[in-house]
Amino acid sequence: MTGTTLDDYTDRYARRVRGMTASEIRALFAVASRPEVVSLAGGAPYIAALPLDAVGEMLGRLGSEDGVTTLQYGIGQGTLELRERICEVMSLSGIDVGSGASPEDVVVTVGGQQALDLVARLFLDPGDVVLAEGPTYVGALGVFQAAQAQVVHVPMDEDGLVPEALELAIAEVSKSGRRAKFLYTIPTFQNPAGVTLTEERRERVLDICERAGLLVIEDDPYGQLGFDGDVPAPLRARRRDGVFYLSTFSKTFAPGLRVGWILAPHAVRDKLVIASEAQILCPSAYAQAAVTTYLSTMPWREQLKTYREVYRERRDALLTALQDLMPPGTTWTRPGGGLFVWASLPDGLDSKAMMPRAIAARVAYVPGTGFYADGNGAGHMRLNFSFPPPDRIREGVRRLAGVMEQEIAM
Ligand code: PMP
Repeated sequence: MTGTTLDDYTDRYARRVRGMTASEIRALFAVASRPEVVSLAGGAPYIAALPLDAVGEMLGRLGSEDGVTTLQYGIGQGTLELRERICEVMSLSGIDVGSGASPEDVVVTVGGQQALDLVARLFLDPGDVVLAEGPTYVGALGVFQAAQAQVVHVPMDEDGLVPEALELAIAEVSKSGRRAKFLYTIPTFQNPAGVTLTEERRERVLDICERAGLLVIEDDPYGQLGFDGDVPAPLRARRRDGVFYLSTFSKTFAPGLRVGWILAPHAVRDKLVIASEAQILCPSAYAQAAVTTYLSTMPWREQLKTYREVYRERRDALLTALQDLMPPGTTWTRPGGGLFVWASLPDGLDSKAMMPRAIAARVAYVPGTGFYADGNGAGHMRLNFSFPPPDRIREGVRRLAGVMEQEIAM
């Protein structure tokens, strides 16, 4: 049956595979990466902002001078040197020795994505409920779906997750006789919504979860990428019991190295390592050495500032273009950091249906439906500002506004 797209293996798949579909983002990448298309669809950091010559030299030396260890197997938990550096990085946002963070309780992962998968493997049985913001990170939806869990979305507003809505969702899940295992949340510069949970709500959300016996999975890839001053401390800096903290070097250094981590309650740490060893044996020794050397010999704090400056300028370019060009009835979030703006379309417009017309007009975005497990989100879209330069962002919004105006007139 070569040359056909029919899948002969359908009857043989495991149950967890049956609901697997390509993410909307993945399907878009092929068209969105054509040079004539302005892509506001991706989530890629602006790697050209790194000192690539110096990083390249460092990577070369790691092979030629230290290859005996960097090209060898390592231990499942990740190197102690890197775990110590990770604790240093976390202490910048208030997760420190005082809040019980220790290299002993850090597990190095293959990006933030493996961290999510490990947590799902550890805690989710088929049919379990996960509470998550609506909209939420598309890659997390894929992980929960593969675990055959059911995602119940909790709405956000401009101050992040709405605590009353969380309480309501918990009550409804338990009324229906099901069990919610954890709250999955991206409290800071949320992907895709771009909003941040306020200080006051952080405490309330933690209290609600504690009372309901819900674990909290805090996913924080963007917390170091704030543009406008103080960033609220992570949930993990406020509470150590029952809070799992996940992060990654993908947005602060380089996603190509695939290095992330979990800070887990001490009792769970061993289980995470065992699960990770079953999956990958150990994280890449080479990639870990690269991150460790980057953090110990290169000006990484300065680099963070550079990323923030580049993204602030691009965020401003996007917000100004939206203000100047979008048709009436369109609204959007104003992120204080991160990579994304969430736009809500005038009544009746459907971002998914509109996508082929947008591609024809040479602009791409991610339709809001990709960020919900339940098919909602058609009236919204995610716009990325980290990758295209400011003038391309404006041109992309101009094209997008043109497409929307035509849809309204239809
Ligand atoms: N969590 C969130 C909220 C993300 O946005 C991403 C990356 N887009 C990840 C996890 C995965 O990160 P990584 O690339 O390090 O696997």
